[in-house]
Amino acid sequence: MSIEIVDTLVVGAGQAGVAMSEHLSKAGVSHLVLERNRIAERWRTQRWDSLVANGPAWHDRFPGMAFPNMGPDSFPTKEAIADYFEAYAKQIDAPIRCGVDVRSVERHIGRSGFRVETSDGVIEAQNVVAATGAFQVPIVPELVSNAPDIVQMHSTQYRNPDQLAEGAVLVIGAGSSGTQIAEELLLAGRRVYLSVGPHDRPPRAYRGRDFCWWLGILGKWDAETPGPGTEHVTIAVSGARGGYTIDFRRLAGQGMTLLGRAVSFDGAALAFSEDLAQNLARGDANYMALLDEADDYVARNGIDLPEDPEARRIAPEPDCVANPILSLDLRQAGIRTVIWATGFTSDYSWLKVDIFDERGRPKHQRGVSAERGIYFLGLPWQSRRGSSFIWGVWHDAKHLADCISTQRKYDEYRPSNRSGE
Ligand SMILES: Cc1cc2nc3c(=O)[nH]c(=O)nc-3n(C[C@H](O)[C@H](O)[C@H](O)COP(=O)(O)OP(=O)(O)OC[C@H]3O[C@@H](n4cnc5c(N)ncnc54)[C@H](O)[C@@H]3O)c2cc1C
Repeated sequence: MSIEIVDTLVVGAGQAGVAMSEHLSKAGVSHLVLERNRIAERWRTQRWDSLVANGPAWHDRFPGMAFPNMGPDSFPTKEAIADYFEAYAKQIDAPIRCGVDVRSVERHIGRSGFRVETSDGVIEAQNVVAATGAFQVPIVPELVSNAPDIVQMHSTQYRNPDQLAEGAVLVIGAGSSGTQIAEELLLAGRRVYLSVGPHDRPPRAYRGRDFCWWLGILGKWDAETPGPGTEHVTIAVSGARGGYTIDFRRLAGQGMTLLGRAVSFDGAALAFSEDLAQNLARGDANYMALLDEADDYVARNGIDLPEDPEARRIAPEPDCVANPILSLDLRQAGIRTVIWATGFTSDYSWLKVDIFDERGRPKHQRGVSAERGIYFLGLPWQSRRGSSFIWGVWHDAKHLADCISTQRKYDEYRPSNRSGE
């Protein structure tokens, strides 16, 4: 059996794999990218039909190419994003091989490098970059069991309102996905219940500037660690319908029933914790804190941006918040579908090296693992808040390419022949 030899193998050709390829090429590191499906597959087939980027086209992109055929302030559709990465890979002539699954990576014994089993044969590589995505394996809590008459799906399986059986829908999780899906269903005339946990809720725009701009100018995309107590907080933001601030009170005003966090199910009724008002208050505090920081920045720097008092208006508490439902009989409420917008985990079972913590999370420093030659890219907070997002991963890839080429220099070093000096 012939074995292919490569210097650096990148696993996955989403945005992380494409960015990695660009920087490895620039650093002169020969490499191969293997992708089990197509370039940017997740944007094509694992997200709902109407999804657009959370950030505007000027922001959610790589430095080397603008989104074609759209204004900088529009929000690219998921197809436009996938097309963008395909075009980008072509532009940089990335050596990507699609349709090849990486099944295992094992360290050589007694020599450097790794043996990589793929669906297309064996490869030997000195370095392996896992760019397989942080939003990879859907998390569906085992909460609603023994309810075969209620269809349950993860947000990755949701496509559009017509796909769902008639009747009310319960969406669990109010990050960007859950909130956007719930609102889409509400606008399609569905009765919608939304279970809202702790969240951040930035303004879509303030004083005429998008929140992506504010987070950038205030240095927040570059924050190295989440603030205390915010490690698991989801962020509710949307670029849908031109982009707007997510406001749970407005959604309740339009007829959506808000609920606290779902905690248990007795076969008929789902129980919710009493934390709804607290979760909304926390989201409001996060929202107001950003407005305050923005105002402070404007004042300190004498920037001419229009005042925006309307942004500080918080609507009164809707009835479903003042008198929260703590137990809901799903069938009596006419709920036929439960959509879990409860996030993702990762699967590195193919990476057979001892660099994971007890929860299976990679141990690393800015993507460089303790096992020489193994790197990670696209992890949340890999080096900063922006790391798992389109623009952030590009910068992390640059750092990894630097690390890989620096290590190569050590490998290539040979002492000079002192006797000839
Ligand atoms: C609903 C949703 C909306 C988002 N919206 C935005 C947004 O608007 N802006 C933004 O900046 N970010 C957004 N993100 C976050 C992030 O940008 C995306 O999740 C993005 O897809 C991550 O890119 P990635 O390359 O790290 O991983 P992925 O896109 O997941 O790519 C990983 C690739 O690896 C391949 N792969 C996995 N395992 C193997 C294997 N063993 N062998 C071969 N190939 C393999 C997969 O097929 C996949 O194509 C969003 C995330 C979600 C879930």
